[in-house]
Amino acid sequence: MTTPGPDEGIVVVFTGKGKGKTTAALGIVLRAVGHGHRVGMIQFIKGEWFYGELTSSKRLEPEFEMIVAGKGFVGIIDDDHPIEDHRMAAQKAISIAKERLLSGNYDIIILDEINYALSMNLIFLKDVIDIINSRPKKTTLVLTGNHAAKEVLELADLVTEMKEIKHPFGRGIKAKKGIDY
Ligand code: ATP
Ligand code: MG
Repeated sequence: MTTPGPDEGIVVVFTGKGKGKTTAALGIVLRAVGHGHRVGMIQFIKGEWFYGELTSSKRLEPEFEMIVAGKGFVGIIDDDHPIEDHRMAAQKAISIAKERLLSGNYDIIILDEINYALSMNLIFLKDVIDIINSRPKKTTLVLTGNHAAKEVLELADLVTEMKEIKHPFGRGIKAKKGIDY
């Protein structure tokens, strides 16, 4: 970890069991686009269900770009796809992340659920560390997902762990439209 200069980006990690990791990253998007900053968000694990930010992200274009890493994206929960499909999709997201980051065209790149993809061994630690270390100095990198690797935490400038106090899911209440997806 090096000390970032005032105009330089930082490495941010949102991890932990509690809800709010992806939501926090989307909060950064809203704030950054207000300054005309360019933000790209790459999904490492996404279900086949519809989620609101797929549509609302279009309203923040062209500054914001939601980058869907191809058709290989499959649901983790209740999902009967072979693990190899998840692996291919996550690896494709890695190559897209590297390419976008190195383009230098972004002020912020968000790697959504990358921590989780790594903890499931869908991607390699070496690739994640490469991405962090090769980031253009001006670009902020946001990594979300529970079970962030300790090597990633060490490289980060800002780490927040979401702590679950209560979640309606615990009382059998299903995911809510506009709140959870
Ligand atoms: P969100 O996208 O709502 O900010 P998250 O990114 O912190 O959630 P994920 O691990 O990505 O959490 O989980 C995605 C989905 O699971 C969301 O619908 C979210 O509301 C729900 N969820 C998050 N935390 C919990 C929890 N502790 N118990 C049950 N469901 C959860
Ligand atoms: Mg999430």
